[in-house]
Amino acid sequence: MSPEPFAAAVLAWYDRHGRKDLPWQLDITPYRVWVSEIMLQQTQVSTVLDYFPRFMAALPSVEALAAASEDEVLHLWTGLGYYSRARNLQKAARLLVAEHAGEFPRSVEQLTALPGIGRSTAGAIASLSMGLRAAILDGNVKRVLARYLAVDGYPGEPAVAAQLWAAAERFTPAQRVNHYTQAMMDLGATLCTRSKPDCPRCPLQSGCQARRHGRQASLPASKLRKALPQKSTLMPLLVSPERAVLLYRRPSSGLWGGLWSLPELADLQALDELLEARALQPGPAQALAALKHTFSHFQLTIQPWLMQVTPLGSGVAEADWLWYKLANPPRLGLAAPVKTLLKRAADVLNAGETR
Ligand code: SF4
Repeated sequence: MSPEPFAAAVLAWYDRHGRKDLPWQLDITPYRVWVSEIMLQQTQVSTVLDYFPRFMAALPSVEALAAASEDEVLHLWTGLGYYSRARNLQKAARLLVAEHAGEFPRSVEQLTALPGIGRSTAGAIASLSMGLRAAILDGNVKRVLARYLAVDGYPGEPAVAAQLWAAAERFTPAQRVNHYTQAMMDLGATLCTRSKPDCPRCPLQSGCQARRHGRQASLPASKLRKALPQKSTLMPLLVSPERAVLLYRRPSSGLWGGLWSLPELADLQALDELLEARALQPGPAQALAALKHTFSHFQLTIQPWLMQVTPLGSGVAEADWLWYKLANPPRLGLAAPVKTLLKRAADVLNAGETR
């Protein structure tokens, strides 16, 4: 199929079946499209539906995001993972305010100069909110194009990505580019899905090479996966008599950067050292069930250790340590497993199992 009929088929499908009422499709602005695109990068639509309205209610503009504290931004992101996305959002907002009077630049090239905005996100902002003819190539569109054209090879490989970008550019129409962009994302998300593409309902079925040759299951090719390295850590949940748990803020670069976390220890001996350093008197303790958390490059097994402690003096009155009150939690960014463990600690304490 040449570019024009391709786009026409996609747009006709959009008119009848495209999603038009997602929160970020209403009241469209570059800011709303940008935040939704960043959230959707590694997260399901169903999850983003929950987070996006909260984020927008708290930080409705570039200016509000630029002026917010990092704790507030990370709090709103807690549970979405890949926290560098949130930190980059804020860095970019501050740049937009400082250098562009809070306005988004109107070119893909300038948009990609902002932190955390890649070529596809820039294309989405430009096409969806500004109507500029700009291509996108997110995970959904990669899958549609790799199948439609039977492009072999893993799309993360530069040569394969270049082929897919060239196709994305070629197929993107000059007219109704906002609807076309939305339709391509929707096609990948709802019809041309990873494991069960619904080819009989697809507007591209007549020209699709994967369908013609029965290659839907093998396209696009997956990355060769090595087994993930395993790591383990001990995380103590040190609970004060006021039912507050000791947390510390991680350095802003690196894993869970800037988020509040339980201390990470190598072993129980390190726990004794921590208690001494923080002037905490140990009380009753118990191990909780281990928790596994998978990162992109390793798997972490967390052994939580719940311990009642009594502070002797003002041991944690430092900027990067705090007592997190379980009954009245402050608005902070928490790593997802830490949030889970705090909930477990509250449940155990409420059940009175440690006394
Ligand atoms: S025909 Fe099937 S494999 Fe081809 S683009 Fe449509 S849903 Fe995907």
